[in-house]
Amino acid sequence: MRVNDKLKSVGLKATAQRLKVLQVFQDNERRYLNADEVYRQAIQGTKDIGRATVYRTLAQLTEAGILARSVLDAGSAVALYQLRNSSHSGALVCTACGQVGSFDDDILERRSRAVAESNGFVLHRYQLTFYGYCAKCRASQNRVK
Ligand SMILES: [Zn+2]
Repeated sequence: MRVNDKLKSVGLKATAQRLKVLQVFQDNERRYLNADEVYRQAIQGTKDIGRATVYRTLAQLTEAGILARSVLDAGSAVALYQLRNSSHSGALVCTACGQVGSFDDDILERRSRAVAESNGFVLHRYQLTFYGYCAKCRASQNRVK
């Protein structure tokens, strides 16, 4: 669904600010973003969006079910956002720089459901979080291996 239609379908007007915020998420398909990162990217090329507007927009889009909000235990309580329809198997948290990436893995996905089922459990949501060092941090610091 195009972002315009998506907004309309949940009763939100496609304002320039909402479109801008959604564009940031589409440009970062493989990442979870915190509110500050969204703000920093949203103001690139435009000064028409303020920090408070970005925060309010994130809250609206989350409430409307377009974004999913989660707090990963990455040593901070910062909320992270991603598009709800991007179904990732898990998150990759760099404990050096704090960047949060994501990955898909069909086998892990199936395995998780099988484990839940064999425990008599119906799975509707799960979150796998891997902690370690990202490639950038590993390249810049030899001791981070
Ligand atoms: Zn890193």
